[in-house]
Amino acid sequence: MMNLDGSVPADQAELLGEDIKLMEQFSFNTTTDANIFGLSSLNRDSLIGWLSVRLGFIVGENYQLAGSSVSLGSQKPAIFADGITNMDNLGAVVYIAGRDSGKLYTLSIAGQMVPIKSPRVGLFRIGEGLFNYKKIGRTAPSAIGNRLLRLSTLLHEARHDDGNGSNTGMLHGTCTSGSLKGESACDKYSNGPYMIASAFLKACQQICDKQGCTSEEREGLKAYQADALSRLLPNATWLSDTRPEGFK
Ligand SMILES: [Zn+2]
Repeated sequence: MMNLDGSVPADQAELLGEDIKLMEQFSFNTTTDANIFGLSSLNRDSLIGWLSVRLGFIVGENYQLAGSSVSLGSQKPAIFADGITNMDNLGAVVYIAGRDSGKLYTLSIAGQMVPIKSPRVGLFRIGEGLFNYKKIGRTAPSAIGNRLLRLSTLLHEARHDDGNGSNTGMLHGTCTSGSLKGESACDKYSNGPYMIASAFLKACQQICDKQGCTSEEREGLKAYQADALSRLLPNATWLSDTRPEGFK
C-alpha cells in the first residue's frame, strides 16, 4: 500500500508497517458515520480500500525538499500538523503550491521520481511526535491503543488527498472558540479530516472488542474521538464533491 522513503527511521517504519497489518486483522462492521468516508459501511475491506487509494508514499521528518526546486510559497505544511511534528500531507501542500504557480513539481521519493500531479499521489510526512507524543493507556508505541490512534491520524491525513478547486485538500478552517481559537485546526467540512478521524475512533470501540484493549485505552480513544468531533466548526458544510483534482 505504501512506499517508504529512506528518510523514515527504521523503528518508525516497523511500527507503521505493523499498524497497517493491524487493519488487515480488523473484524468489525458498522454503518455509523460511514457516509463521512463516502462509504456504505466501515469494515476491514472498505477501510483498507479507502486508504489504499490515498496512501502512496511516506517520508520522514528529515526528508529534504531542497534540490527539488520546490517553492512552497504561502503554503505552510504546518497547517496540516498538530504543533509537534506528527504527520502532515506533504503531497497536498506541494501540489497546491505547484498548481498555484503553474508548475508541476517532481520529487525524488524512495528512489523514484514522482510527479506531484494530484494530492492523490498520497505523500505523507511523519515525525517523532506520531510515536511519542500521542499516546494513550499502555505507553509502548506498539500497544493496541497507540496503534489505533496512529491509524486515526493516517486516515485524517488521507482525507487531505480529496476535494477539488477551492476545496482541494479539504483544508482546515480557523477554530473560532476554545483553546485552539485562531488556529487552523478545525473542520469547515462536516466530512473533513477530523470527522474522518472521529468516525474511525468511534468504530475503535468495536475494534477493541476483538483486540483486547484495556479500559484505559478505550477511554483514551473516546477522549480523542471527542476532541476530533469538537473540531467541527459551527458553520461547517458537507462537501458532496470530494473528487480529487490534478494536472490534466
Ligand atoms: Zn489535517
